[in-house]
Amino acid sequence: MSKFFCAEMFSNKVFLNDWRESTGGSCDVVEPATGNVLAKIALGSSDDIRLAVTEAKKQQSHWANLPFDQRGNILRRAAELILQHKDTFIEWNIRECGSMAPKAEAELHASLEQLNMAAAMTMQPDGVTLPSAIPGRRNTCRRVPLGVVGVITPWNFPLLLAMRSVAPALAAGNSVVLKPDHQSAITGGLLIARLFEEAGLPKGVLQVIPGGAEAGEALVEHPMTAMISFTGSTNVGKKIGRTCGELLKKSALELGGNNAFIVLDDADIEAASSHGAWGAYLHQGQICMQAGRHFVHESVAEEYISRLAERAERLRVADPYLGASDIGPLINASQLAKINKIITESVEAGAKLITGGHSHDQFYRPTVLSNIRVDMPACQQELFGPVAPVITFSSEDELVEMIAASPYGLAAAIHSRSIGRAMKLADRVPAGMIHINDQTVNNEFHVPFGGFGDSGNSGRFGGPANFEEFTQSQWVSVMDIPVTYPF
Ligand code: NAP
Repeated sequence: MSKFFCAEMFSNKVFLNDWRESTGGSCDVVEPATGNVLAKIALGSSDDIRLAVTEAKKQQSHWANLPFDQRGNILRRAAELILQHKDTFIEWNIRECGSMAPKAEAELHASLEQLNMAAAMTMQPDGVTLPSAIPGRRNTCRRVPLGVVGVITPWNFPLLLAMRSVAPALAAGNSVVLKPDHQSAITGGLLIARLFEEAGLPKGVLQVIPGGAEAGEALVEHPMTAMISFTGSTNVGKKIGRTCGELLKKSALELGGNNAFIVLDDADIEAASSHGAWGAYLHQGQICMQAGRHFVHESVAEEYISRLAERAERLRVADPYLGASDIGPLINASQLAKINKIITESVEAGAKLITGGHSHDQFYRPTVLSNIRVDMPACQQELFGPVAPVITFSSEDELVEMIAASPYGLAAAIHSRSIGRAMKLADRVPAGMIHINDQTVNNEFHVPFGGFGDSGNSGRFGGPANFEEFTQSQWVSVMDIPVTYPF
């Protein structure tokens, strides 16, 4: 039995200063591929969250005042440990979240990079000196921690989406209360608590309290959380944004997407169909950057659709824990019902089902839809399932108008053999991340990540963005000798 983590020892407790029972009840951890119960987890109540915030606040200044190399060493140690225990992280990600092994492995390595980057962040210059118009005065504008950062995360990339906030927030000297989604609370919560516990993070600096919406609301509303870093749906993000606005609290909101995957008439269609399939079907399409709307020039649409459908039909749909599989289960039954509804309604409205469109248990066959119009549910809604709706266009003006019909603006991709033409088109696409001759699902840990419009409120993760995101500015001026004021 692993000493690092075994469900029996840790999974019925929350990490509130230490492992302890919660007052919010419990829930089963259900394996989406089989419906089997893997473990039981404790859920934090609003009271647990409030206590966790108060305790985190008590420890924050001590943590911020530790010499930077000691903070960096703890983050480096966490990076070593995540590699040492990678099999545990990967297995839980596969079983608890229905991830394919390569996805779970990639997520682990991306989380490792977040830890390494955060360790390096502790050595970063923490401000600038500025000239003064007043003789004898020196101005420093420095970045200081915010205090307690509340982190709320979803289930689809639970380890990475927690780590991309937790690691830089800690590196900047904040304490953190993490509320992972209850459906991925082990991969995206309890394992992270164990990691930092083993790495020697002082008690109380990181609290991990799985729970539902009520727990999340308590974290957002608590007067001592100085910032909320939220990744999840636009609906919930807007609600959190409203509360944070009312409380004058910083919020970084990374929300939904309905991303345009564009194929121009001069594109390499074979490459585009491969990218379209990857962008639409990776992790069963349950990715905010999913290629959710395939805009294809009418002159190449037939070829694109047929190649995309061939690829979709080749994919193996099976339990990823048992071996050869490309498409695993959807996270839960309501997600499956939502996708079914979108497809049924779109077909009723005139869409053509080219392949897929059916399910067994919680597994949905990769689907291609054609004859899509922008007013159909398959184009209007974020899919978050293995579905590729294809919309044709005849001119770039028409294309730009159809792209802008969505309020989301997370990612986009453009396929063309002319880089100049694609770059010019990119200037007209309202998305926070645009990839030319690639697909929409892209993330590099050191490159700022985030969206426009309903996809977020301008928060950015990664590289130079992290320090700014998880600190606040403070002006400190020093006079060599005090001046005498008129009174
Ligand atoms: P969600 O329903 O918004 O849930 C996200 C988190 O918020 C969960 O931990 C959830 O807890 C919690 N929550 C729910 N209601 C809340 C409330 N009223 N106050 C505070 N917290 C609350 O999102 P999801 O369905 O899990 O995730 C899918 C969505 O996330 C998609 O829209 C996807 O595009 C988006 N996403 C965005 C990014 C990005 O970087 N832009 C990355 C990944 C996913 P419980 O579920 O435990 O109740």
